[in-house]
Amino acid sequence: MKHFLISFILLTFLFVSCEKDGDFENEEKDTSPVLVQVSVIDALLQGIYDGYYPIGGLKDLGDMGLGTFDALDGEMVVLNDTIYQVLYSGQVVTPPDTVLTPFAAVANWQRDTVFEQRDVTYDLLKSQFDTYFPTTNIFYLVKMEGHFSHVKTRSVARQEKPYPPLVEVTANQAEFEFTDVDGTIIGFYCPAYASGINSVGFHLHFLTNDRKGGGHLLEFNLAEGKLELCYLFNYRLILPEGGDFFGGDFTIDRSDELEEAEG
Ligand SMILES: [Zn+2]
Repeated sequence: MKHFLISFILLTFLFVSCEKDGDFENEEKDTSPVLVQVSVIDALLQGIYDGYYPIGGLKDLGDMGLGTFDALDGEMVVLNDTIYQVLYSGQVVTPPDTVLTPFAAVANWQRDTVFEQRDVTYDLLKSQFDTYFPTTNIFYLVKMEGHFSHVKTRSVARQEKPYPPLVEVTANQAEFEFTDVDGTIIGFYCPAYASGINSVGFHLHFLTNDRKGGGHLLEFNLAEGKLELCYLFNYRLILPEGGDFFGGDFTIDRSDELEEAEG
């Protein structure tokens, strides 16, 4: 009798756990977007610019985002599954899938909120953050589309080894101004705890609708358009499997350098 009872309890337990597994397998696949990132921002800040991840592969991980190219060869804008390269000259090209990136971040766009906008500047977006963003403590993919009265961007020049730190490169950045232009801003907002891994706050890039201009966003005035947000609760890092990254120094707080380089 004692034996039977133990077997019965065991069987019941097995049955319950199998059922649990079964239910789990039948659950719908999690399709919430993932922020997928190649390397970390503190690698870029210390001059780790060797590309290691093909941009063709990046497109499989997300259809919107930003980054840079091997040897810091310009600014990357990922828009609707196309990867654009804004060169130091200001020219915009679409490089082949085999080109490598040393730093990029992408996600598959899913719109959570949309706001019609008029006369929004970078300062206004920051000061009215709470109006649009439910919290500072998650990641966002940020898109702003429409007619801009003014946009200022920059791009950086391809570097030779030994690579200088990012602040030295951005000291000689090329700047571009656009007036009365239709275009799209795309990029990320990252929370404070992401420091060292990605840019804390906004990091946005821009591309004109005619695909002839863009770059890393410095200033803007969205005369008329919309602000759209995609909330991101999932994060994946793809790190270099060797090279300069292994010898990098990640013990230093580089947040002041980041502000100088990206601001
Ligand atoms: Zn940038």
